[in-house]
Amino acid sequence: MYAGRTNTPCCLCGSEHTVSRFEIAPRAVTLMKNSGPIAWRDIVGAVTLSFCESDWELVSELALEMDMHPLSRCNVAYASFSLREDFEALLSAKKDEPDQTKQETKLLDRSRDVIDSTDDPYTEDRDRVEAIVIGLSLEELGVIEAAPHRKQRPPSSAD
Ligand SMILES: [Zn+2]
Repeated sequence: MYAGRTNTPCCLCGSEHTVSRFEIAPRAVTLMKNSGPIAWRDIVGAVTLSFCESDWELVSELALEMDMHPLSRCNVAYASFSLREDFEALLSAKKDEPDQTKQETKLLDRSRDVIDSTDDPYTEDRDRVEAIVIGLSLEELGVIEAAPHRKQRPPSSAD
């Protein structure tokens, strides 16, 4: 796979010393700082955002305690992702436009799994933060009606 940048800096402050990272959907790049020139539809795979220690604390607090995502403060120049053209250059062949709906569905499915097992002691805060940010950003963009963690679980008809 195309490796792109090897060291992804903290997307909030640019520090090279990062402690945590999570993925967002390519469409969510449009909520980030300096995202104007990015053709998000051409992004292949998910977008990875990395964070330094102090910013990770901030981002975790935002997501877990205030129900907010940090994307408007994250610099897209510090995000890690691959564009279709990169693959084309590498494979010297035309590649189909990436299926963003499929990518979003995959990320949302993963988020739902995390939210559903949120009380599980093995569920990590990092996974919870990622699930909340993915859900909130796609809700803000109108892709889904409500982020998985905000949605009431449907009453079970079995009982
Ligand atoms: Zn930072």
